[in-house]
Amino acid sequence: MSYTNFTVDTDADGIALVTWDMPGKSMNVFTEEVMAELDAIVDAVTEDDAIKGAVITSGKSSFSGGADLTMIGAMFDRIHEEKTRNPDGAAQILFDQVGRMTGLFRKLETCGKPWVSAINGVCMGGAFEMSLACHGRVAADADAVKMALPEVKVGIFPGAGGTQRVPRLTNQQDALMMMTTGQNLNPKKAKSLGLIHEIAEPDALIDTARKMILDGLKPVQPWDEKGFKLPGGKVWSPQGAQLWPAVSATLRKQSYGNYPAAYAILKCVFEGLQVPFDTGLRIEQRYFTEILQTPEAYAMVRSLFVSLQELGKGARRPDGVEKTSFTKVGVIGAGFMGAGIAYSTAKAGIPVVLIDRDQEAADKGKAHSEGLVAAAVKKRRMTQEQADALLSLITPTSDYGALDGAELVVEAVFEDRDIKKTVTEATEAVLKPGAVFASNTSTLPITGLAENSSRPDDFVGIHFFSPVDRMMLVEVILGEKTGDKALAVALDYVQAIKKTPIVVNDTRGFYVNRCVMRYMSEAYSMLVEGIPPAMIENVAKMTGMPVGPLALNDEVAIDLSQKINRATIADLGTDAIDPRHVELIDTMVDKHGRLGRKNVRGFYDYPEKPAKKHLWPGLKELYPQQDAETIDVEELKKRYLATIALEAARTMEEGIVTDPREADVGSILGFGFAPYTGGAVSYIDGLGVQAFVDMCADLATRHGNHFKPTPLLLEMAKNGETFYGRFGAGERIGEAA
Ligand code: NAD
Repeated sequence: MSYTNFTVDTDADGIALVTWDMPGKSMNVFTEEVMAELDAIVDAVTEDDAIKGAVITSGKSSFSGGADLTMIGAMFDRIHEEKTRNPDGAAQILFDQVGRMTGLFRKLETCGKPWVSAINGVCMGGAFEMSLACHGRVAADADAVKMALPEVKVGIFPGAGGTQRVPRLTNQQDALMMMTTGQNLNPKKAKSLGLIHEIAEPDALIDTARKMILDGLKPVQPWDEKGFKLPGGKVWSPQGAQLWPAVSATLRKQSYGNYPAAYAILKCVFEGLQVPFDTGLRIEQRYFTEILQTPEAYAMVRSLFVSLQELGKGARRPDGVEKTSFTKVGVIGAGFMGAGIAYSTAKAGIPVVLIDRDQEAADKGKAHSEGLVAAAVKKRRMTQEQADALLSLITPTSDYGALDGAELVVEAVFEDRDIKKTVTEATEAVLKPGAVFASNTSTLPITGLAENSSRPDDFVGIHFFSPVDRMMLVEVILGEKTGDKALAVALDYVQAIKKTPIVVNDTRGFYVNRCVMRYMSEAYSMLVEGIPPAMIENVAKMTGMPVGPLALNDEVAIDLSQKINRATIADLGTDAIDPRHVELIDTMVDKHGRLGRKNVRGFYDYPEKPAKKHLWPGLKELYPQQDAETIDVEELKKRYLATIALEAARTMEEGIVTDPREADVGSILGFGFAPYTGGAVSYIDGLGVQAFVDMCADLATRHGNHFKPTPLLLEMAKNGETFYGRFGAGERIGEAA
């Protein structure tokens, strides 16, 4: 029998090698067809007396990324359809559908013949759950091999047996940790947890798997044996009594109750371990059905799984421009940002010329990469050879002639129009025709900077975030004259360095910083109103923001906020900024010399380690304090979410961001906007535009006109529209793909 996605070869010893290798895909994923074929293969292996057992592996460099976008999209579509058609019966239909994968894996593990999963590369989600259903698991000893159940990161959880098998293989605490964080496991860690049996040299992977079967691997899972005992003891045991009371408190502390899927994992494990395995699977199936119907699951899957992948693959790339493969990229300005950009570029295997005013400054920029790779080698995240290879790609120099042949140059010199002009001219004198010049400016409009260029259609903004090596988002900024070629080259570059681009039209602050400034300025208002600073920070975290607004302002630098205030007032007039905010920032900087983390004095104090940073006590002295007991926490939460979401809506209204996927992904990757909402515009769509408008109008009566709903929002509320419906990315998941 032949299959589209698998080959099956049976050797002389009667061992079937099942190789998963989907045609036309760079990575194997679970689709309906894959499941149907795997089902047929399990039957074929079981029924063929000549076959003793099966080894399943991948024909690609990775094992599998788990479920496919289309399958996830279809699942949500099904929920939507059924709920409309048959609200009472929808849950039952969904329950049966989500049980398909569970049933397939259970069939595999009870088929009576041994199966071994030979994990040769990245093995995620459903693929790892399938491996856990195999009687033996062996992983290749290679850096690229990573195993994880990362579903919680996109608002769902391992719903194909993962929550039942993992805590029956390892202790409950590690099982919960692994599944509620979605952490990656390398082979050593997976083995120490008991989740795989063996680690083999990559060349010996298949032979090791075969040998497990030839050595008599029993085709019965431990939990199907009589007298099975849980490795970490029962739930109701002295160990369990120590663990469980702390578990939900810890989760609450980490997630503030914003992630229902994480709680569902706890329930599946707690309840599932007290019953026979098959009942445990049904408990998991029931919670999975429930979680799939939550708004959090829908919003997170859409933004953090589907849209993220679509944008990463170049959803916004113009058609008809040949893809650029980079042989040389120039970075000018080897300071804080330029050094990071050079590192990220070299890490992607692209040769970089790193230019500064003199050799010493350029060398200093390269030293940043030297520090990063040395740390990676120390932590064994990189071998010395990989570190040396990366460093050999960075050429520090002050000679512009070295840029000859580059396809792209990114400028990251001082934020000064004149200096940027000089650098643009010097660069264009040596750039080959058609090469693209990009500016990493954070505040200067690209259209204005492009006036310094003799070829403004090849001029674009590529706006990175700090720290460059860790921040996954890049804003690609279009000036008025930026052409398709420059946009395509910028997107190809961002893809090459494995970051996620959003395309933004030129405006003050672009997209992310405009939203971030709203977040910080709402905190300034709260400070001025006398909300206790600790409450300002803690409520932000309860809202789902990873970093409080005051801590964030310290990272950005308070004197930078002062500079931005002054520039904004100079350009737009005194009404452009709330005078109470100007006064607060001026007091912090001019009167108290508090610039932020950089001078260890900001909204926080930064004592020497091991002491931890803490809010500056003097902050409370600046304004009469309200009694915390009388403050409405829900109101503060709404203010944070609404002010940012309103700014995101304004950028769409002004045509700065044109695709809601970009507004959402940009808000989560750029500044961690409450991920459970799916991002700043999904938050509005999720509430319903009318409800959002009502909430904002209400907030405006107490907190100022910046909460007033905009004309677009009023119109959308009247028409019953959503952002995803109106702006063409499609109402349902994956429609724009
Ligand atoms: P920085 O001061 O750390 O680095 C600037 C570098 O440019 C210095 O090494 C300087 O020697 C070099 N330089 C100055 N004039 C030069 C010239 N004529 N030729 C070559 N090199 C020259 O500044 P930074 O924080 O890295 O910012 C650089 C750019 O990135 C600015 O436009 C800034 O707005 C933008 N940006 C900064 C951040 C951030 O968080 N710091 C974030 C996004 C964008």
